[in-house]
Amino acid sequence: MAEIKRVQVAIIGAGPSGLLLGQLLHRAGIDNVIVEQRSGEYVLGRIRAGVLEQTTVDLLEEAGVAQRLHEEGLIHDGTQMSFGGRRYEINFRKLTGGKTVTVYGQTEVTRDLMEARQSEGAATIYEAADVSIHHFDSRPVVRFRKDGAKHEIACDFIAGCDGYHGVTRASVPAAAIKTFERVYPFGWLGLLSETPPVSEHLIYCNHPRGFALCSMRSMTRSRYYVQCSLDENAESWTDQMFWDELRRRVDPAAAEALVTGPSIEKSVAQLRSFVAEPMRFGKLFLAGDAAHIVPPTGAKGLNLAASDVRFLARALVEFYRDRSEAGIDHYSARALARIWKAERFSWWMTSLLHRIPDAGEFADRIQRAELDYLFSSVAAQTSLAENYVGLPFQD
Ligand SMILES: Cc1cc2nc3c(=O)[nH]c(=O)nc-3n(C[C@H](O)[C@H](O)[C@H](O)COP(=O)(O)OP(=O)(O)OC[C@H]3O[C@@H](n4cnc5c(N)ncnc54)[C@H](O)[C@@H]3O)c2cc1C
Repeated sequence: MAEIKRVQVAIIGAGPSGLLLGQLLHRAGIDNVIVEQRSGEYVLGRIRAGVLEQTTVDLLEEAGVAQRLHEEGLIHDGTQMSFGGRRYEINFRKLTGGKTVTVYGQTEVTRDLMEARQSEGAATIYEAADVSIHHFDSRPVVRFRKDGAKHEIACDFIAGCDGYHGVTRASVPAAAIKTFERVYPFGWLGLLSETPPVSEHLIYCNHPRGFALCSMRSMTRSRYYVQCSLDENAESWTDQMFWDELRRRVDPAAAEALVTGPSIEKSVAQLRSFVAEPMRFGKLFLAGDAAHIVPPTGAKGLNLAASDVRFLARALVEFYRDRSEAGIDHYSARALARIWKAERFSWWMTSLLHRIPDAGEFADRIQRAELDYLFSSVAAQTSLAENYVGLPFQD
């Protein structure tokens, strides 16, 4: 016999979307539980995004979890691009009237949210097996097994925050959902190391051998990526092979300044653009990677997850506080309008900076012309800067 619990909102997935939504709802007095298939340590062990838009920082402040972010996060007022052996600067602060981004790892955001949730006594069920969702067009129910026992949660709403491979989007009837997808014909081989970053800025490199990115998580922890083929295996790369390849792709000053060291983590990520429409199905809402994926070139994945959560948390607060369904009725359209702009920007950055296999000489020349235009046009740089730091919310 299943143990039955009742909450207002059941959240599936304890990634950044689920944890942030849970925290915002908890602070608004909305009873919620998070059901996560992995352990807390596993979730914290995932190395992912690191660049936060100001709107994401504002939302983390609203959730009461921004103290360490303000102490340890690195404010970046621009970024750099290397092309043809030269380095170019895109100054966000000047181009956008003062806007910046903050470098603070997704792992740290997750840790801060988990600790806040634990200290405030809000419930998270880790290591939930066989999670399934039911009746989300009427009286939603979540079922799972934990330590061998069956559990059931009855709720008003389900928030599907369970990422690209999760169960919530997969539970929607195929006829009710439309998906849009582009899988890029290359990947990123990433390496994390306890070494100081090569520059105080991120450096995006377009090189004939392929794209490279010099990024960071702190002033002592660096994250580097090189474009690789889709079938690349991270284990077949020694650290030395990675550092040698990175040095070949960055500009000479960066190659000279690069401090190398043993890797803490090395992995290959596939690059994909994906959107599922709509994001509401009766009393089920999708948020974050459950509904969309962007290639990481535009640093938008985590920020988009946060912007979905912002729309959804406000809609649910409006529902419970004001008895208004306007917010939940508009959730999908509002979220998707922002998502498609980020999809466009991420696709554009990806197309601009990578070697596209078999694209041909014409495409190479167009890419070169586009970079020349970018580095000579304030309007083009402003467009890049505005999209990178995050477009303003329309509400
Ligand atoms: C390898 C990698 C590298 C990335 N690098 C960057 C980057 O550099 N920059 C950037 O902006 N973005 C990056 N991203 C994207 C960014 O990390 C995501 O956009 C962000 O994690 C989305 O958060 P989320 O909470 O929506 O989804 P997730 O972080 O995927 O969290 C979903 C959670 O749901 C859980 N779950 C899944 N299925 C179930 C189930 N059936 N039942 C219960 N729980 C379930 C998962 O275990 C997970 O904890 C990267 C993503 C990956 C995968």
